[in-house]
Amino acid sequence: MICLRCGQCCLHLDIFVVNPFSILADGSIDPDDRQAMIFKAAGQRCPHLAPQVGREGEMAVCTIHHLPCYRGSPCEQFEQLGPEDAVCIMSGYFQALAEKG
Ligand code: SF4
Ligand code: SF4
Repeated sequence: MICLRCGQCCLHLDIFVVNPFSILADGSIDPDDRQAMIFKAAGQRCPHLAPQVGREGEMAVCTIHHLPCYRGSPCEQFEQLGPEDAVCIMSGYFQALAEKG
């Protein structure tokens, strides 16, 4: 799926994310660390989400996206949803949800 970097899924999904305190110096997590994944509830902003404002407006940046700990995470699996060359269909849905309040 092509991500539009809206950041809506990082806010509106119930999902397990990497515990910021479990990330090792090399960007990985200890597979034996039972606290390495934490639950992020829908409506709660992910601690790894860092919006940045550029020429095209605000863009969501995931601060762990490039790290080894991100590999195999539920977020990485979410990215695999839908065809590789199609824009994320959840973005519009989450946007409409946000506008409804
Ligand atoms: S909702 Fe879709 S487009 Fe928006 S950040 Fe998540 S994956 Fe990307
Ligand atoms: S870990 Fe990254 S992709 Fe996953 S919810 Fe947090 S900011 Fe979004």
